Amino acid sequence: MTTTAPRPADPSLFVDVTPDAALRGARCAQCATVTFPSQQSCPRCGATEMNPEALPTVGVLWSYTVQSFAPKKPFLTTEPFTAFGVGYIDLGDVIVESRLTVNDPDALRIGMPMQLCRIVNHLEDDGTEVVTFAFAPSNEETA
Ligand SMILES: [Zn+2]
Repeated sequence: MTTTAPRPADPSLFVDVTPDAALRGARCAQCATVTFPSQQSCPRCGATEMNPEALPTVGVLWSYTVQSFAPKKPFLTTEPFTAFGVGYIDLGDVIVESRLTVNDPDALRIGMPMQLCRIVNHLEDDGTEVVTFAFAPSNEETA
């Protein structure tokens, strides 16, 4: 039995290929605007000097919803489809749209701390996990 390392669905979204890699954004050299995903030019001032920047791996939930129907192809999800959370995570200098690991609206609240993680997006024919980023609530209860 062979095990193949999980493969990022889009490697350009991460600073490197390690499993715990931060998201790769870009910061404008002129006005310091941060974008995610990284862009070639600044959406605020138009400057073309954008420097890669590792984004914080923790943030707070800015807004969210629960998607209860399957997205259209090619945005595949694991079968059978299960509802999933999607939200915006405020990372300080930028707000990132992301899948959430939680699909119970009662377990989510605006302003709660969130932690970057990986989820399996789908499996390739040979069983290789294709992963993408997500955010999970980071308020682990330490009773
Ligand atoms: Zn700019």
